[in-house]
Amino acid sequence: MSFDYDLFVIGGGSGGVRAARIAASEHGAKVALAEEYRMGGTCVIRGCVPKKLMVFASEFPGAVADAQAYGWDAQISGFDWGAFRAKLDAELTRLEGLYLKGLDGAGVTVFDCRATLDDPHTVALADGRKVTARHILIATGGTPVVPEQWQGQGVLTSNEVFLMDRLPKSMLIVGGGYIASEFACIFNGLGVKTTQFYRGAQILRGFDDEARGHIADEMVANGVDLHLGTDVVEMRAEGAQTFVKATTGHDGAYDAVMFATGRKPNTDGLGLEKLGLELGPGGAIPVDRYSQTAIPSIYAVGDVTNRANLTPVAIREGHAFADTVFGGTPRYFDHGLIPTAVFTQPEFGTVGLTEEEARALGPIDVYCAAFRPMHSLFAGRDNRAMMKLVVCRDTDRVLGCHIVADGAGEMIQLAGVAVSMGATKAQFDATLAVHPSMAEELVTMR
Ligand code: FAD
Ligand code: NDP
Repeated sequence: MSFDYDLFVIGGGSGGVRAARIAASEHGAKVALAEEYRMGGTCVIRGCVPKKLMVFASEFPGAVADAQAYGWDAQISGFDWGAFRAKLDAELTRLEGLYLKGLDGAGVTVFDCRATLDDPHTVALADGRKVTARHILIATGGTPVVPEQWQGQGVLTSNEVFLMDRLPKSMLIVGGGYIASEFACIFNGLGVKTTQFYRGAQILRGFDDEARGHIADEMVANGVDLHLGTDVVEMRAEGAQTFVKATTGHDGAYDAVMFATGRKPNTDGLGLEKLGLELGPGGAIPVDRYSQTAIPSIYAVGDVTNRANLTPVAIREGHAFADTVFGGTPRYFDHGLIPTAVFTQPEFGTVGLTEEEARALGPIDVYCAAFRPMHSLFAGRDNRAMMKLVVCRDTDRVLGCHIVADGAGEMIQLAGVAVSMGATKAQFDATLAVHPSMAEELVTMR
């Protein structure tokens, strides 16, 4: 049977673009890709990249305050959101162009429209065309979820927050995960009076308990008005503001309300049900370790499979898929040990087991240090950095590393190399300290 393409990729985000490029340029496959919004996907257009640029923007007031403490005659008079947005939009357009150029250079045919599935080898394009392919890769990502009762009430999600016309003076952020915590710090840093409601006992559920408690304390010390065990019970417009009644009596009126209450896989209306492909919890596409679905010609990578929803994971899954199916070298991405950073202020970098997870598996030793970073001394700031190693008592192997500190995202990348290689605490200790640095704490803890 002949097909129009060897591979049709639905979704031009991190996973889809990597798979398309590798299949075409390294393995000589004839590839097409459909993207319904903007090339680059969530990470580039409304995720990691614009978020990190906002993190940078939000750190300047703190840096200027520190500069004064170091003797600089530095002043800051206000933040021009419009100027920032213009720069941001230009940068995202530049990156989008680079993604398109990369696909073009690899010989991938791009369709600027939505695609759905007609049968295991046929894709229906929104403009009415039908295209066939030997293999189809679904890489449609995910989308923010707002609890049903608050939908249609003008609340923001991470999709809209980068597109605001002006910076609100006050903001409520609902949620306690990566996105809520990162944006609470961003808006607080930008001078917005920021309140965060989290329904549970501590933000960043699933991460090391001590680390997330430390982050929450630091966020509060930096000015985030964080209310734990708190949820929204009522919302109504009050002039230009939204009045919010809370379960715990922390009622207030805000210029903007953002819900960062999780994301769901983009599988609605894709046509999978009519193909008989049963979806998993929340609409995720079930796949095996090679990212193959129950329909042999259809694969899925990235957030749409809801394995670990991070850009480098989607990229590795997409690359492994292309090598497996078109390169003749079957391989898969091992989701076992994933270094990650939450770009709060201070940052949180983590890899491996939390203390709680490790303790449940057997005897461990925990090495933890909380200290005032040298950088803060002149400013008289009382912030604390935290570093923690979770070590298996039997093997001396470092099972987990958790860092809450400025620059933790950079530090954890390298600690991740050591932990992934199975480094022992003795090997950490045998590594000479880099002095004076914060990370030297990782090799000097007793
Ligand atoms: P996506 O990048 O979401 O790409 C899917 C693409 O498919 C989209 O462009 C979409 O328009 C398109 N599409 C959907 N349906 C169709 C269809 N039917 N037809 C055609 N096209 C379709 N991860 C990190 O590692 N670090 C971070 O700092 C980080 N920050 C984040 C911040 C925010 C605010 C958010 C929301 C996410 C963040 N993430 C971060 C997560 C990261 O963005 C995702 O894990 C990653 O983008 C997933 O890639 P993907 O290829 O699976 O999907
Ligand atoms: P998360 O799943 O991380 O967090 C969702 C939060 O919303 C949780 O605190 C959850 O509470 C809360 N929540 C869920 N439903 C409700 C509800 N009905 N009412 C009130 N609160 C609710 O999702 P995010 O949207 O923050 O992020 C999605 C994913 O994107 C992340 O898991 C991560 O994989 C990725 N990401 C990565 C980043 C990075 O690498 N730096 C940055 C941003 C996103 P509870 O804990 O009680 O369930």
